[in-house]
Amino acid sequence: MLAFLIAPIVSVQFSAAAQSAPAPYQPSGPIQLSVDLSEAPRHIFHAHLTIPATPGPFTLAYPKWIPGEHMPDGPISDLAGLHFTAGGKTLAWHRDSVDMYQFHMEIPAGATAVEASLDYLNPVDGNGFSAGPSATSQVSILEWNDVLLYPAGVKSDDLTYVAHLKLPTGWKFGTALPNPQAQGDAIQFGPVSLTSLVDSPVLAGAYFRSIPLATDVQPPHHLDLAGDSAASVDIPAEELEAYNRLVRESGALFGARHYDHYDFLLSLSDHFFPNGLEHHQSSDNRAPERMLLDADLRESFADLLPHEFAHSWNGKFRRPAGLATPDFGAPMKGDLLWVYEGLTQYIGELLSARAGVRSIEAYREALAATAAYLDHQAGRNWRPLQDTATAAQTLYLITGKAWFSYRRNVDFYDESWLIWLEADTVIRKQTGGKKSLDDFCRSFHGAPSTGPKLVTYTFDDVVTAMNAIAPYDWRKFFRDRLDYIGPRAPLGGIEGGGWKLIYNDTPNDHISADDRIAGGITMEYSLGMNLGRDGSVLDVVPGMPAAESGLAPGMKIQTINGKACSPEALHDAVRATKNGAGSIELVADNDGFSKAYRVSYRGGELYPHLVRVDGQPDLLGEILRPLTPVTSPR
Ligand SMILES: [Zn+2]
Repeated sequence: MLAFLIAPIVSVQFSAAAQSAPAPYQPSGPIQLSVDLSEAPRHIFHAHLTIPATPGPFTLAYPKWIPGEHMPDGPISDLAGLHFTAGGKTLAWHRDSVDMYQFHMEIPAGATAVEASLDYLNPVDGNGFSAGPSATSQVSILEWNDVLLYPAGVKSDDLTYVAHLKLPTGWKFGTALPNPQAQGDAIQFGPVSLTSLVDSPVLAGAYFRSIPLATDVQPPHHLDLAGDSAASVDIPAEELEAYNRLVRESGALFGARHYDHYDFLLSLSDHFFPNGLEHHQSSDNRAPERMLLDADLRESFADLLPHEFAHSWNGKFRRPAGLATPDFGAPMKGDLLWVYEGLTQYIGELLSARAGVRSIEAYREALAATAAYLDHQAGRNWRPLQDTATAAQTLYLITGKAWFSYRRNVDFYDESWLIWLEADTVIRKQTGGKKSLDDFCRSFHGAPSTGPKLVTYTFDDVVTAMNAIAPYDWRKFFRDRLDYIGPRAPLGGIEGGGWKLIYNDTPNDHISADDRIAGGITMEYSLGMNLGRDGSVLDVVPGMPAAESGLAPGMKIQTINGKACSPEALHDAVRATKNGAGSIELVADNDGFSKAYRVSYRGGELYPHLVRVDGQPDLLGEILRPLTPVTSPR
């Protein structure tokens, strides 16, 4: 049984619907939830609930605001087969005309509970994050919020659920839920609050392994793997050692833990949308089938587990007050996501290097790639970083859309990586190397160790905690970077770390890995354009040569200097601009019409890298140095 505590300083706004909820809900016992995944391979999850209720008007809600997703994206349109009975009678129901996530009914006299049955139609494609494709014939992830209802307006801490689960024959499972009692393919879990249930997904599959990590560390940690093949879960020894070290490095960084045990749930399937969703005692990590085996995929997903793990401290234990809501119907406020996600991005990337999930050189290439795309983010000319956090709920689902650079997306992740890196270098300089952001993490997220617990914070709390580590005008430091409108990314951390961002014709390893995985061609730093391998223009950077020539996303390049378009022909043409006529002639299709474009450019191929600044100490190298002994080659 887990106890989540809402600190008294939490400030939340209840939704209008929550305010208008009828009589207080005083249940006679826990809500029973039975989920049948035996048809998960057909993308149908069946669920049945027994919900104690008393006669009179009654409203049930489907979870709308999903913790960690920071937006109202509970998959209501995938809910089907809704049917209610009470006292043996079918109940008429109607949806609320304003809140699409609420269902009203009347409990008849004499009834003591509502029986609710529903199906969750798990999508077969698309993203949808945790509610994206979550099942194949071999593996499935169950996020409980997809398959349950709860009495509207009741705090999720105040509701107790007993969950029952039926798996496809022969499947095994991993979860942070307590006290699983398995009989064949049927499992019953111990009673937990609705908060904990939604915070504790189940990973199950035919090819399943649960591997204890860092057995010298308490509380216990497990890496639970389920994938689409036996090979997919056959983790190489050096990869496993890096995740053992991740557990130790996290302890050295934070100095305390706030969970009773931790399960990394990692599903490996090409049919899932790659994503990670943090939970307090586990994380739902979704990656391609060969993520543990393929060098490009390992690099591209190097920060996935470290990031989601770091959220147990930064996001679950410490959470912005505006994101700590009493139930799943209350709106969240994203203004501090540059801490919740941004600091986690910094810590996740940091831990990936300190633990050896990736090499220090690979970290620098990833940092260079990130700094470069942010330094070409045209949207910063109109949208400050703060607005990407405040508007997060409108931005997550535009990934990959046309005019990506001009829109700006969820930059509070990557741009905050740069900002927290700079904060780390400032602390180290201000204190003559005696303190670092590690000390901030230890004080803000650390001792004493506890079970799962929530402590909220505000912007002022962050400033105060930073000042306690190193006196500085942190309010101005953060506000200057959060509210800045202009072309340049905050590169002070790279420069303060003794490095600088440069461009040359040597491909960037991180970008090359991403391009090979996604089938893309990154020409963002030369022509100002990103392409698919078939010549599709995915995006152009306003102000750069491709955009200036009139090219736009949605077009498809047909010929380059008269030659049929191919990745090789594109690279050859850009490379040749160094010695050529100063332009490239492109013909592109635009919705069925062909047109010629002259791209004025003479810089050759350009890719970002970090190089040392002569005479300056390598502070970045200091920052990335492991805190725990390295026992095997990196
Ligand atoms: Zn995150």
